[in-house]
Amino acid sequence: MTIDLGGTRIRSALVDAAGRLLVRRECPTEAGQGPEAVIERIVGLAQEVREASPADGACIGVGVGAPGPLDAEAGLVLSAPNLPGWENLPLRQILETRLGLPVRLANDANVAALGEWRWGAGQGYSDLLYLTISTGIGGGIVADGRLLLGRRGLAGEVGHIILEPAGPRCTCGNRGCWEALASGTAIGREGARAVREGRAPLLAELCAGEADRVGASMVGEAARRGDPTAGRIIRRAAIYSGSAIASLIHLFSPGIVLLGGGVMALGDLFLRPIRQTVRRRVMPAYRDAPIARAALGGDAGLIGAAALFLDRRDPMSEETLSPETIEQVRRQVLQSYPELEGAEVSVRQQGRSPEEIAVATRLGMPLPHEAEEPRFSVTFRKMVVAEDGVRIPLTVRVTVDTQGRIVKGQERH
Ligand SMILES: [Zn+2]
Repeated sequence: MTIDLGGTRIRSALVDAAGRLLVRRECPTEAGQGPEAVIERIVGLAQEVREASPADGACIGVGVGAPGPLDAEAGLVLSAPNLPGWENLPLRQILETRLGLPVRLANDANVAALGEWRWGAGQGYSDLLYLTISTGIGGGIVADGRLLLGRRGLAGEVGHIILEPAGPRCTCGNRGCWEALASGTAIGREGARAVREGRAPLLAELCAGEADRVGASMVGEAARRGDPTAGRIIRRAAIYSGSAIASLIHLFSPGIVLLGGGVMALGDLFLRPIRQTVRRRVMPAYRDAPIARAALGGDAGLIGAAALFLDRRDPMSEETLSPETIEQVRRQVLQSYPELEGAEVSVRQQGRSPEEIAVATRLGMPLPHEAEEPRFSVTFRKMVVAEDGVRIPLTVRVTVDTQGRIVKGQERH
């Protein structure tokens, strides 16, 4: 089960191991009524989803996406500008008690990144950037095949990259953040100012002279109809965005950059100058990373929160062997396979592939990696020279327990 807690709406769904939404429900957040009332609504909605679920026993946990910054490890919402009164709130613990299911919590943009990576436009990439440009700007970074979490799970607040140290005030209190310069809110604010100053006649017509009604989509509409000021506002937001994206590309070298969020509805008007700016600003070695639109739309987070439980490499609690244990296994294998000296070694926890999880879920069994003592596959790969002088790949895979004791093994030439 998943929950997407937003400033205006709460959504909940039942998602299967293939990322399909089986049941979905939503209700208004009414954040002004304070945390207790909102939590009551979350619990009620989750219970509705559970009751409507085809097989209740199959629900293995609740993945929650909530506004950041939040402490994903401790399950705390630290503060949320759109949710007044939410300060250091232990949301995970509260929901576990109320729902009687394990709960995992992550930043809403991070879970959307997981959704796009696992089931959307980012499938098959081990490095990707997901950026969502809407009321604010957020993102998620997948690097080397896992979601980058950072200390307390606070990494990936891309919207607060500072582009103009003396720029407009941001919701975070700082000045000149990317979010303060190029979010939907920023585009609307600049449009409203242009109307007040009499610089955008077409936009003024669209909002019937009421500058407060101007939003990003209205500025886009005016730009499309040929209002030069509206066109400049969109273009400037796109150039700021392209500059921020170019910096992120240099930092993380993604295989693909995915753009989502409401402002992407502006289409090529916004996307084309972003692409041009990135192309101009990144070094040649990085230019082949495509900049594409995200595929799951507003459901990315609702679907992606399921990946907190289903992911092949569980991003919240991945287990692995210590370097000492791996070295101990390596020495043991080399005693019988001296030709594997210098082989490439990889380690994977067993029972975590989506296929294994899908079967266990359908059979109503506990997840394999949670039910049993953890087992790890340690694989050694090397090109070796056979008796006839031909070079062939040799693969030896052993299954070990947490102490590094070999339980079984197999070799393949
Ligand atoms: Zn900021």
